[in-house]
Amino acid sequence: MFDAAIIGGGPAGATAGRLLAQWGHSVTILTAPPSRHPSLAECLPPSTSKLFHFLEIQGAIDEAEFFPTTGNTVWWGKNRRRAEPYPDGTGHQVRRSDFDRLLLGLAGAAGAQVQVGKAFHVPDANGARIEFQIDAERAAIPARIILDCSGRAGVIGRTLRVKEKNSRTVALCGIWRNERGWKLPDASHTLVEAYSDGWAWSVPISPFLRYVAFMVDPGETRLVRGTGLSAAYIAQLAKTRAFRKIFSRGNLETAPWGADASLYSAKRFFGPNFLLAGDAGSFIDPLSSFGVKKAMASAWIAAVVANTCLRRPAMREIAMKFFDDREREVYSGYLQKSAALFREAAGKYGHAFWTLRSELLETQKAKDNREVADALKQLKRKSSIRLRRAESVRMESRPAIEGREIVLRDALVAPGLPAPLDYFENVDLPRLVDMAGYHTQVPDLFEAYNRACRPVALPNFLAALAMLLAAQVLVDE
Ligand SMILES: Cc1cc2nc3c(=O)[nH]c(=O)nc-3n(C[C@H](O)[C@H](O)[C@H](O)COP(=O)(O)OP(=O)(O)OC[C@H]3O[C@@H](n4cnc5c(N)ncnc54)[C@H](O)[C@@H]3O)c2cc1C
Repeated sequence: MFDAAIIGGGPAGATAGRLLAQWGHSVTILTAPPSRHPSLAECLPPSTSKLFHFLEIQGAIDEAEFFPTTGNTVWWGKNRRRAEPYPDGTGHQVRRSDFDRLLLGLAGAAGAQVQVGKAFHVPDANGARIEFQIDAERAAIPARIILDCSGRAGVIGRTLRVKEKNSRTVALCGIWRNERGWKLPDASHTLVEAYSDGWAWSVPISPFLRYVAFMVDPGETRLVRGTGLSAAYIAQLAKTRAFRKIFSRGNLETAPWGADASLYSAKRFFGPNFLLAGDAGSFIDPLSSFGVKKAMASAWIAAVVANTCLRRPAMREIAMKFFDDREREVYSGYLQKSAALFREAAGKYGHAFWTLRSELLETQKAKDNREVADALKQLKRKSSIRLRRAESVRMESRPAIEGREIVLRDALVAPGLPAPLDYFENVDLPRLVDMAGYHTQVPDLFEAYNRACRPVALPNFLAALAMLLAAQVLVDE
């Protein structure tokens, strides 16, 4: 019996497998052989590196010498060409087969067993069971907890999948070469271009080789498999302005292939003995370039939750629910970000491809953000403060991550908060609320907070204070 069985050896599976093995659990990663399609190249923006550091794999990533990238070049909405350098460092352009092999190697080196074959879900009254097939042999894999990290295949996740309305998208992908290089402001940039009823995307893995995909609605374009796909691919390229010009100078190296890129989430992200991590639980728009980061962050939390379930069975339900809440929140955050971009393009093209996608979001979060920004402005104008905790505010125990486990911690409960909250921008909110009444100057409160708690930067502190005022947890008299 394994402590943990992990289905899928992509970024999520390899990350969760490595962490659980490092933390002393017996782990098997069950993964499929490489797909018959070429592997995609993908962009990992600089913020992914923060996660690499946190996961202590930045050294291995550096050694792999992936193609570094400094930003995006974008043709979007009403704007002409916009070069958008990253403000926070460089990212990586990776061929996914190389990146995945590296992560899986790290998981193996940490002690996880890696097996190649095909996993099957066997529904069971008590949760899920899995069987694994290698060649003609199929056997049950007994495990105390299962992490489904099988991506879009969703070996278990598929049974709980909720498709996002109006988001059906297929990515038509191809690989282009130009030995003389492309005429671009920066050869390392990801290129993104919106057009009438779709958008084009290109990631380089060298100054000469670029992956190019068109994200289109399969219904709108009446796509057909086989030879029709090549014609559809070229037809999409012809609709663009910038891409058409750039890629007229190169050669399409492969027959184009299609990949489903429709959005989905899950009815729930856990079951009695399993968790859905990464794309097995939800898929965000590739426009964000955050799919890999989201998958690896989800895997880290899934590992923390699995570790908690294995070490402290009494915390199982609380930990699983914590994971579920967090996955839901992350998905809706990304949904809102891409919907804002789709709205921008809808303003120019007005095509159903854009207008329908721009309705993907609920606007509550955007409204909350505006209120926090207003509170921050007011706070900055004030010469002194007299803060007190509102009568309606209570404290409650809430699950939170502490190291490798889910623990219970004090959190604020108030009518103005959508959910109980313990930390915001790394600021310990219950402590800040307790201290707020003792100071009449924001700088004094800031200094006192940093002396008493783990220090935070001023912008984080101000954001937390503004949020507490906007949510009327604190009242300025
Ligand atoms: C067109 C397109 C462009 C994208 N561009 C970017 C980008 O630029 N940047 C970015 O960060 N993200 C991008 N993404 C998103 C990114 O690819 C995913 O979010 C990411 O791969 C999720 O990782 P994962 O480990 O959850 O799933 P996956 O990477 O899908 O890994 C799942 C693993 O499970 C295995 N598996 C599946 N079924 C079985 C089975 N039955 N048995 C055993 N193993 C199985 C698979 O072989 C695979 O190894 C893009 C996605 C698309 C479609």
